[in-house]
Amino acid sequence: MVDGSSRKEDTFLALDIGGTSVTCGLVSRSGEILMTDSFPTAQGPSPAAMTEIMADKLKDIWTKADRHRRPKALGIGAPGWIKPTEGIVVMAPNIPGWREVPITRIMSEAMDLPAILENDANLYALGEWLAGAGKGHDNEITLTLGTGVGGGLILNGHLWSGSFTSAAEVGHIPLNPWSGAICGCGRKGCLETVTSAKGMTRLGLEWLASGRETLYKGPPEELNPAVMQKLALKKDPMSLSVFKEAGEALGLALAAIFNLLSLEVAVIGGGAAGAFDFIINHLLATLGEHLVTAQINEIQVVKGLLGVNAPLVGAAALLEAAGY
Ligand SMILES: [Zn+2]
Repeated sequence: MVDGSSRKEDTFLALDIGGTSVTCGLVSRSGEILMTDSFPTAQGPSPAAMTEIMADKLKDIWTKADRHRRPKALGIGAPGWIKPTEGIVVMAPNIPGWREVPITRIMSEAMDLPAILENDANLYALGEWLAGAGKGHDNEITLTLGTGVGGGLILNGHLWSGSFTSAAEVGHIPLNPWSGAICGCGRKGCLETVTSAKGMTRLGLEWLASGRETLYKGPPEELNPAVMQKLALKKDPMSLSVFKEAGEALGLALAAIFNLLSLEVAVIGGGAAGAFDFIINHLLATLGEHLVTAQINEIQVVKGLLGVNAPLVGAAALLEAAGY
């Protein structure tokens, strides 16, 4: 018989496969990170070599943490195009060679544990909902501002995947399909063309090319959101303008999302969320103007709390919801 207290002490293994690194971890049922390890993917090891390293790292973590207590299951987060129900990474554009990889079967066999695959942005949303900035809210959207813009949606306390397991593709919400910049998806004017790290950098480069006033004196190829954050503290007109445009775009996209779904909270995370403090006022002003289903003071737009650990924490929520 399993009593409540021992169930509470259950652990899960978690994997977050990303374009620059893979993070492995051991997480408690309540979402507490017990141990993590990571390795870079930049060298582009083959999927077979990568899965071997992942299995070694996970076994190592498990042994170090508590060799006698068996984790209940493994949760896997992966980017790109995946088929969660079949456990297959169909294509991960940022990881060389990842096509049609049956990751769930490979890792389940290697670890002798049940495993589940989920989109990394969805795991991020689950993590912030279970133990981060979305904790205590039934209805949450998360936006991760990275190379692109990822999204995850929690409705009534459950991850919403939609009919084609591809819900919350917020990065490709069309904001300016007539004259916007070309997006990575091939269309024009998607949200991520102005709010991803790449999009913000593009706006900065346009400013530089136009010869307008800026404190930035470095080469164009070294411009990025982190550099602009530092300059924004010194009131650099270029950086402030880029973050204003990004904030307004996020405000418009969130207005559409909040008006459609009547959510309580939006969590902003990802590498470029460091610019949150420069973005938030523009975001809230625009959102407030276009919000019709709630008052601006009834909702929250907050910065993510868990950072790179969010998908690992999310794996615990995913496995718990699946009954492990
Ligand atoms: Zn797009």
